[in-house]
Amino acid sequence: DVRPLVAGNWKMNGLRAALDEIKQIADGVDGSLSEKVETVLCPPSTLLYVATALAEDSPLQIGAQDCHHHNSGAYTGDISAEMIADLFASHVIVGHSERRKDHAESDALVCAKAEAALNVGLQAIICVGETQAERDDGQTLEVLARQIEGSVPEGARAENTIIAYEPVWAIGTGLTPTTGDIAIAHEFLRARLKERLGDEGARMRILYGGSVKPSNAREIVAIAHVDGVLVGGASLKATDFLAIFGAY
Ligand code: 13P
Repeated sequence: DVRPLVAGNWKMNGLRAALDEIKQIADGVDGSLSEKVETVLCPPSTLLYVATALAEDSPLQIGAQDCHHHNSGAYTGDISAEMIADLFASHVIVGHSERRKDHAESDALVCAKAEAALNVGLQAIICVGETQAERDDGQTLEVLARQIEGSVPEGARAENTIIAYEPVWAIGTGLTPTTGDIAIAHEFLRARLKERLGDEGARMRILYGGSVKPSNAREIVAIAHVDGVLVGGASLKATDFLAIFGAY
């Protein structure tokens, strides 16, 4: 059986003062909980190195929120997967909708980033999801199919790749799809992954993300093919984030 993954994405939030929250999360996920659920927290890259040190004796894993597709070079302001791995981080999110939109990232670039991550031994959390306009147009499944086809590298394996379904309109809005709509999307993603990657795709974890909070987590994680959650706003406070684990 798949071990579910609960991941937190802090986005561009978190000063040094927030290290205390990371410590609380690291302490909070220790113990029997960690046998049931895998945990990753993705703070901003400025806090990565200290975060991995704080989580050293905890099952909490630390990830980054993006990486460049090359390991080094003249790319001012960028951070490579190799640099992230060098800080003892284990995961990196790629293709988040905020990067796809604000930085015009294409499926091909997201795929190259995921490949760069896998090449240095990081686990890639590849995000997909439709916008409100695409949903209104009835394009949801078509968009998901295109993103799975274009953003997931050929060499992706269940052990090193995680898919996150994040409907763009559900991010930071308090809106979530119905459980039925989440079920349809996840079942569809499962089928596409299986078709592309065979058994590896069939076993790959698919997370749901978008306005997950303690009050709706239980209902969401109970949906078929939801193998965990990717949490934004509700991961910023240790008490909220830890409360989400109560869903398991
Ligand atoms: P919220 O949980 O704040 O809606 O953000 C979801 C998200 O984008 C996680 O990557």
